[in-house]
Amino acid sequence: MKPAYKKNQDLLSEIKNADESSEKFHLWWLGQSGFLIKWCQDYILLDPYLSDSLTDKYSLTDKPHIRITEQTLNPKDLDFVSIATSSHNHTDHLDDQTLLAINKSSQGLRLILPKANVQFATERLGKDSGIELIGIKENESIKIGNFTINGIAAAHNQVERDEEGYPIYMGFIVQFGNWAVYHSGDTLWHDQLTDSLLNWSIDVAIVPINGNDPSRRVAGNLNGTEAATLSKAINAKIAIPHHFDMFEFNTASPDEFTKACESLKQPFCVLQNGQGWSSATLK
Ligand SMILES: [Zn+2]
Repeated sequence: MKPAYKKNQDLLSEIKNADESSEKFHLWWLGQSGFLIKWCQDYILLDPYLSDSLTDKYSLTDKPHIRITEQTLNPKDLDFVSIATSSHNHTDHLDDQTLLAINKSSQGLRLILPKANVQFATERLGKDSGIELIGIKENESIKIGNFTINGIAAAHNQVERDEEGYPIYMGFIVQFGNWAVYHSGDTLWHDQLTDSLLNWSIDVAIVPINGNDPSRRVAGNLNGTEAATLSKAINAKIAIPHHFDMFEFNTASPDEFTKACESLKQPFCVLQNGQGWSSATLK
């Protein structure tokens, strides 16, 4: 198993001690698609998966989800987090074990998720979970605390909609101060994606790299070249890859992504699980 770059108390103290000036912000990759953003004294947690629920669920099946990198944090230690997002219903993006544990510690978690998924999430988390579910539509903005979250439709593998036309796979743009971070969720390229993203001045694009590999017949997500190309097309100041290094059957080397970024002159930063990044490093 790959060690985390930092974990548990070491990581928590780095997070808590990170500079709280409004001039900059910080983020940490917690594993898979999970990121924690800190700006001033405010936190937002994106698609956290901090458990072994998929490994346990599939352990006796022909699709074992073997974890390849250590868990970075115990969700019960995230008692300072009260806002989270879920991009879609797959367990690595909507993990009841993680979300219930955080909610128990923080006593009041608000979860932003696609409006189409509120019913499903209510069932997964339990009607009496105490987690407040806030459904968002595509191109809608919702202000929560000092963060504004904007919904972007995602294609996993297609843009799929519920009966009322609301997308069930989404990405989010999180705005705060002068900053905007795009978290893709799980997505392939689709017709409206660049157009909707070009409405924003995106500082950080968090993009998946584990998909679209014809030799493995995997789609689901962008591959490294596509993730770099998308980041360039939306003028992201920096691109950070996600959705690798978690499960043995569904990972990718970041090399293709870094090569593509270099040839496109797209600035990038490849993090390890438990590693942080600060906007102070932006040129
Ligand atoms: Zn996923």
